[in-house]
Amino acid sequence: MDANEFRRHGHALIDWLADHMEGLNTRPVMAPTRPGEVKAMLPAAAPEAGEPFEAVIADLDRVVTPHLTWWQHPRFFGFFPANALAAGVLGDLVSTGLGVLGLSWQASPALTEVEEVVVDWLRQALGLSDGWFGAIQDTASTSTLLALIAAREAASGHAMQAGGLQQGGPALVVYGGEGAHSSVAKAALLAGFGRDNLRLIPLGADYAMDPAALARAIAEDRAAGRIPCAVVATCGATGTTACDDVAAIAAIAREAGAWLHVDAAMAGSAMILPEMRHLWAGVERADSLVVNAHKWLGVPFDCSLFYVRDEQLLLRVLSTSPSYLRSAADGQVRNLRDTGIALGRRFRALKLWFVLREQGLEALRARLRRDLANAAQLADWARATPHWRVVAPVPLQTVCLRHEPPGLDGPALEEHNRQLAEKVNATGKAYVTGAEVAGQWLVRVSVGALATELDDVRAGWEVLRAEANR
Ligand SMILES: *Cc1c(COP(=O)(O)O)cnc(C)c1O
Repeated sequence: MDANEFRRHGHALIDWLADHMEGLNTRPVMAPTRPGEVKAMLPAAAPEAGEPFEAVIADLDRVVTPHLTWWQHPRFFGFFPANALAAGVLGDLVSTGLGVLGLSWQASPALTEVEEVVVDWLRQALGLSDGWFGAIQDTASTSTLLALIAAREAASGHAMQAGGLQQGGPALVVYGGEGAHSSVAKAALLAGFGRDNLRLIPLGADYAMDPAALARAIAEDRAAGRIPCAVVATCGATGTTACDDVAAIAAIAREAGAWLHVDAAMAGSAMILPEMRHLWAGVERADSLVVNAHKWLGVPFDCSLFYVRDEQLLLRVLSTSPSYLRSAADGQVRNLRDTGIALGRRFRALKLWFVLREQGLEALRARLRRDLANAAQLADWARATPHWRVVAPVPLQTVCLRHEPPGLDGPALEEHNRQLAEKVNATGKAYVTGAEVAGQWLVRVSVGALATELDDVRAGWEVLRAEANR
């Protein structure tokens, strides 16, 4: 494919994507696909001879689009918003098209410096002080893993540089709430803490981590000679979007000498709204923080912002300097490879830059406020409807609902609510997520796709009620 053919096919594909965006409304939200159906359409091995690119494009309509669940659909209420603003889609295209890698500053100076600047723009937009240093990671899972590795090294006097965790010494313990994302447990295990040294702290009535229970767990570990190493506070828990009391947890963590990581992968986007910042009050006392720009904010996946207070510590843990990566500029620049796991770095900053410039913070704020109001409206409708219950507080854009009709209780009631999400999704008219929270099955309605207006929320609510009464 030469430059002219690239132009032709590229234009065709942009037209195809634009048509797709316009027609999304008419598709079923959930893919009606049977397991193995897509694989059965594909040859078992790659073609020996190249095919006309038109044939490849044509297969998108045959193999791909009939078999996707549509995260960008106006009636997608599943998981969390993973919004892909058009400006960000184009930023990602340019990033790939330029084909550059940020192995070092010199390898792609603009890649590094645009990233430094836009990560700082976002820091300011989130209302964070200038005491934070940030870099873009692929996902919150990686960001949290980095946080726990940094905490481990800080607590062990950089054991990694000697015998690592095999040099013995007291056990290091990690704490998180029972509502913490599965990536927290995964990070603790991958960072070598071991399951025995991971404490999941019970939640209070508000579905957030109970700080008193955290303090007790820390005291027990200390009495037994173990070292409290890291606490992960969650802001925007996956089940309910509950926010842990970061200020209270920060006081406990500081007193114990433990690292505090704030997982605001979901709720972080909301902090561009000054009126929401009370949800993470105390965040300035954390040691590290993750905010996924690839969720509600609207930068296409993947774009996770990892901020730390102590840049030097992070560099000490992660830096590598083999001869082939050194350059004369090293003393004057940042080499962002030293802020993450992978050596190669994509130009992810481009899509964040495009989004912030094309939207402006005002438009981003207006959209998030729209979604918060729509979620509050849904909660009001549910509260006013007999036999429906709003299970948890609604601090953000996710509403946890349970249908409790007369005559149903115990396991039958759980089964009724467990099946409700599946029934709604099978209609193709809306898509929600079922979840078990504190032993109860419920339906999570996550409002906040780019295209979702109040009418879509109303339509989703009608489907939910119809399926519950069926
Ligand atoms: C989405 C989410 C994660 C995981 O995010 P990835 O970027 O997919 O790894 C972690 N924690 C919370 C609170 C989340 O909402």
